[in-house]
Amino acid sequence: MAEHPSDPAAGPSDGVPDAELTAYLDELLSADRAAAIEVRLRESPGLRQRVAGLIRRRDQGGHSVGEIWRRRRLSCPSRADLGAYVLGVLEPAHAEYIRFHIHTVGCRICEANLVDLEQSCRKGEQDPEPRRRRFFESSAGRLADRR
Ligand SMILES: [Zn+2]
Repeated sequence: MAEHPSDPAAGPSDGVPDAELTAYLDELLSADRAAAIEVRLRESPGLRQRVAGLIRRRDQGGHSVGEIWRRRRLSCPSRADLGAYVLGVLEPAHAEYIRFHIHTVGCRICEANLVDLEQSCRKGEQDPEPRRRRFFESSAGRLADRR
């Protein structure tokens, strides 16, 4: 009985109605509710898709939500999170959220942070120290096994 055609993926299964997502993007929600939605965004690929769709639709309508989002640095992951993302040790859902934040929302601040972290990560790989330590640990392990 819905009058306008709605995205079949946009059902209430993830518990966040479009109106609330829009309010979230417009920063009309209380900090508590906005934080709750951010948690859901991290957990739900479908919800991220809906937000991406809302951003696209509204960008076309002249309201650049993506622009607001970028300007206010809404829901930016911490630098520690970005570091874990670079190292590939983040849980998949969280990593997906960071990809979404940087590539779909297009957060330039996090993108710059990411480039910076990737560079220092590469420098770290050239440092021979961790390899030497690993070698030492494995020889110690072998010595222990021989007993
Ligand atoms: Zn960001």
